[in-house]
Amino acid sequence: MKAAVVHHFKDQLTIEDLPLPKPGPRDALVKIHACGVCHTDLHACHGDWPVKPKLPLVPGHEGVGTVTEVGDQITHIKPGDRVGIPWLYSACGYCEYCLEGKETLCLAQHNAGYSIDGGYAEYCLAAADYVVKVPDNISFVDAAPLFCAGVTTYKALKVSRTKPGDWVSVVGVGGLGHLAVQYAVAMGLNVIAVDTGAEKKALSQDLGATHFIDFIQEQPEEKIQSLLGNGVHATVCTAVSKAGFESAYRSVRRGGTCVLVGLPPEDMPIPIFDTVINGVSVVGSIVGTRKDLQECLEFAAQGKVKAIIQKRTLEEINAIFDEMEKGDIAGRVVMELAE
Ligand code: NAD
Ligand code: ZN
Ligand code: ZN
Repeated sequence: MKAAVVHHFKDQLTIEDLPLPKPGPRDALVKIHACGVCHTDLHACHGDWPVKPKLPLVPGHEGVGTVTEVGDQITHIKPGDRVGIPWLYSACGYCEYCLEGKETLCLAQHNAGYSIDGGYAEYCLAAADYVVKVPDNISFVDAAPLFCAGVTTYKALKVSRTKPGDWVSVVGVGGLGHLAVQYAVAMGLNVIAVDTGAEKKALSQDLGATHFIDFIQEQPEEKIQSLLGNGVHATVCTAVSKAGFESAYRSVRRGGTCVLVGLPPEDMPIPIFDTVINGVSVVGSIVGTRKDLQECLEFAAQGKVKAIIQKRTLEEINAIFDEMEKGDIAGRVVMELAE
């Protein structure tokens, strides 16, 4: 099978012919039709984070397709089912986090396209218990970005403790952020989008953001104060930039929530005095559970959310990464691997 492989951090990916994986008793083999390109894949190929991925690596955690084979212990999915393989490739199922429905915190988890080969390939193995079915009325290409960008931002909004009518800022309107804007609007929130350039501005406004702030031209926190006479109730920061996080933190009103989602390999100093006096919550949010994923897909099935997609091929992956690094992609790139 054809796959995109990285052998050393920061090297170009190469397109290779790998052996077709054989499913174990609790696995499924999935023929990948489409796989989204997440900025996390770029971090993985660069070895940006303290916990390194395996090498060589087939990246990808937005792979969706058709089950072609299941292990002999699997009865809940069958060949022909349409499924996606998310970042949470598998978890242990019995630790305190798994038992509490916080499986994304499981210490024994595997991650697709990081600790295990992912969806940048014609076929991908999956832990059958952790795949999530794609609703019938969503195409593979449309479903792919929801398996990370969608579920991550949907979950971040859930942990932001906002209610309909509140103001939320979405900092970074890339693959994640453009879905954050849509989920926020669908949840009845008022959205201020923060990114740069005419294309991201038009995209944000088309998707229902009330205001757009260009972070190169204006100080987002000052602009938010002038627009609302206060900070936002919550911010969801997906920017791959420390400056974006610092600005997001300063844009939250008293009692509000700053949700950290983006993963630039940097630290952000948090002022103790302001955080205490203002009663601000700073929370990290990591992807979402299988239940979050089902909920997030249901929004799309009902036509309330739809990723803006650029269809590309697996062979273009190095060029796609270059564009992503420059912040040149509006929406999500999805590589189409099969009809
Ligand atoms: P992306 O490249 O598509 O989008 C990033 C956006 O941030 C770009 O539009 C860029 O212009 C914008 N940006 C950069 N600096 C900014 C600033 N100072 N202010 C506002 N916007 C700014 O990336 P993506 O795929 O959306 O991923 C974003 C980040 O989220 C990555 O670090 C990725 O690893 C991380 N991520 C986290 C989770 C999670 O579960 N927490 C899940 C997926 C991705
Ligand atoms: Zn991702
Ligand atoms: Zn566990």
